[in-house]
Amino acid sequence: MQKLESKPVVEKIREQVLQKSDAFQKKYHRKPHLAVILVGDDPASHVYVRNKHVACEKVGFQSTNHQMPAITQEQELISHIQKLNQDSAVDAILIQLPLPSHINKERVLAHLDPHKDPDCLTEANLGKFFSGNSVVKPCTPWGVMRILEHYNISVTGKDVVVIGRSLIVGKPMACLLSDANATVTLCHSKTKNLAEKTNQADLVVVAAGKPRFFGKEYFNAKSVVIDVGIHGSGSGQGLCGDVKYDEVYPQVLAITPVPGGVGPMTISTLLENTMALAEARAQKLENKK
Ligand code: NAP
Repeated sequence: MQKLESKPVVEKIREQVLQKSDAFQKKYHRKPHLAVILVGDDPASHVYVRNKHVACEKVGFQSTNHQMPAITQEQELISHIQKLNQDSAVDAILIQLPLPSHINKERVLAHLDPHKDPDCLTEANLGKFFSGNSVVKPCTPWGVMRILEHYNISVTGKDVVVIGRSLIVGKPMACLLSDANATVTLCHSKTKNLAEKTNQADLVVVAAGKPRFFGKEYFNAKSVVIDVGIHGSGSGQGLCGDVKYDEVYPQVLAITPVPGGVGPMTISTLLENTMALAEARAQKLENKK
């Protein structure tokens, strides 16, 4: 049983992004700039946002904090996003989710400039991603691919089960794995005989959003298990995944831990996406000259 920790992958990506960011600054005389919008007082979101600012600093990015009160109206948020869309000093705009319940996420995202969307959440960027033609990739599934790559786990010809079909994790995960030549079964809450399917798979990506739900009966001694689930305080303490880690770890070939597995990858791939957006925008402006 191997523990697929993300720390070495995070460090490698940080180094790569830092090099690109240095080169960007030398060429364009400014830093890549991520604006982070946080609406409300959700403590876990505050921790995530703080971590993102720290990560930006480590790779030489400028990051700005746009804190808005919980009572912010949808139109106010949209106006703020539109202002940042127009701001030529901003390369990427991250809207920290979840938004307060009185704000409609889809309506808000519809106003985000896709050229400044580092999470690949806009319909335009998702469309490009599924067409194999995007500057950015969905952060969490792309982070999973980077872990597999780092640990030399090839999925070519492998049978893979993805549990969960959300637009931010399950569906793009299935797409990336299929593009990497895996044979993918995409499962969800209505799937019959799930344990039978996961037991037959070489690799299982679990993204069901159910704390400590999947025990050893779902896996076999040759399973590689990627646990995308993340539950807990957001403080890094008392976090758990969708898999019963202590029970499953000794029984399988390899597994990502929680914390220390997929979670930190999402920030790393966010940095990569921000860098890619900054480069694409700067290049476009240069071509116009
Ligand atoms: P989501 O939108 O709630 O989707 C959950 C999916 O799992 C749905 O497709 C659902 O099926 C399926 N599902 C639920 N219970 C199931 C069961 N018992 N058996 C099989 N399928 C089941 O969640 P999400 O946004 O994709 O997130 C999934 C997990 O990943 C959460 O724990 C979340 O916190 C975590 N996450 C982590 C990161 C990170 O940075 N590491 C980023 C994003 C999300 P139906 O479609 O039929 O309802």
